[in-house]
Amino acid sequence: MFEAYERLAERALRDEPPSESEALAILDGKDVALLPLLHAAFVPRERYFGRKVMVHMLNNVQNGLCPENCGYCAQNKDSSAPIRKYAMKTDEEVFAEAENAARAGATRYCMVLSGRGPTLERTRKLALLIRRLKDRYPIGFCLSVGLVDDEQAKILAEAGLDRLNHNLNTSEEHYEKICTTHGYADRVQTLLAAKRHGLESCSGLILGMGESSRDVVEVALRLRELEVPSIPVNFLIPIDGNQVVSDGSLTPERCLRALALMRLVNPRAEIRAAGGREGHLRALGPLALWPANSLFVDGYLTTRGDGVRATYRMIRDAGFEIDGNPAYERELFEGEGAAEGFRLEGEAPLFKPEIARATRGVG
Ligand code: SF4
Repeated sequence: MFEAYERLAERALRDEPPSESEALAILDGKDVALLPLLHAAFVPRERYFGRKVMVHMLNNVQNGLCPENCGYCAQNKDSSAPIRKYAMKTDEEVFAEAENAARAGATRYCMVLSGRGPTLERTRKLALLIRRLKDRYPIGFCLSVGLVDDEQAKILAEAGLDRLNHNLNTSEEHYEKICTTHGYADRVQTLLAAKRHGLESCSGLILGMGESSRDVVEVALRLRELEVPSIPVNFLIPIDGNQVVSDGSLTPERCLRALALMRLVNPRAEIRAAGGREGHLRALGPLALWPANSLFVDGYLTTRGDGVRATYRMIRDAGFEIDGNPAYERELFEGEGAAEGFRLEGEAPLFKPEIARATRGVG
């Protein structure tokens, strides 16, 4: 019974993606059971990343004020979502947030600027900031700044930027249903410009925007063709006032299947259970770590998510390792027993780690 799954895993290890019909069956669950599928996806995940989980922190360096109309984004020009709008944060604010990410053991700190793309002057300013951040903190720095051309990609690559994020978001065919102020081809051009200048790219998708399974398969294959090494798999966070509304397709199982598909199609890529994982995966959240080797902590651009402690706890409880700052992790969980937090209604915790420590070894 498990031979078909073993074959999927073996082919991933040989870097051979599933066929289109297999990919559709993986997503739609036709004759493909979830748990053996997750195990098949875990085989290449373990080969290339062991049990490590990379933790990314996002920071909105500029929020709102965007002329584009990406219908899933609360910062788009037509959205009536009540978000804070601000132009670029000061360098001091960015440094303070980078410091926080480094201390919390984040593998990468991702700066996100709203807008269609930066001017040349803004690109130079960002390049200077990136050089200073890299001099000070031993973590990776990523930038999401909209459309970028060759000249800008070169400036950012020379500044030592670790990754440029620019998501394809969906398939070419479905793209005009989510945005019309720029096209899919513009997005692909940005990724190609990054590649030409040796800038590592990060590009993924958003599920739950009315796309078909075929659209998901197409974007998985396009990311493979573009040799994208980092793939965030986002799950639409429905925001009142946005034009793209949730299509209701995202069960926890569909999310896990999509993560498994991304891993099997892109076996060596860093696959991230990204925006919206908490609300869509719900109780099945830890299972995402079998196909994915990367997560965001501490929320997204305009919405909250699980904090560092809850996320780290999930990773540890599922038997995975945080690829971060071990001293911080020790500090965070110091004194914690194997169980904690049981409470009678309205009472203090029943299980108290300090009592457990004091009585350990007695009697
Ligand atoms: S995704 Fe970026 S470009 Fe699109 S509306 Fe939001 S901030 Fe603007």
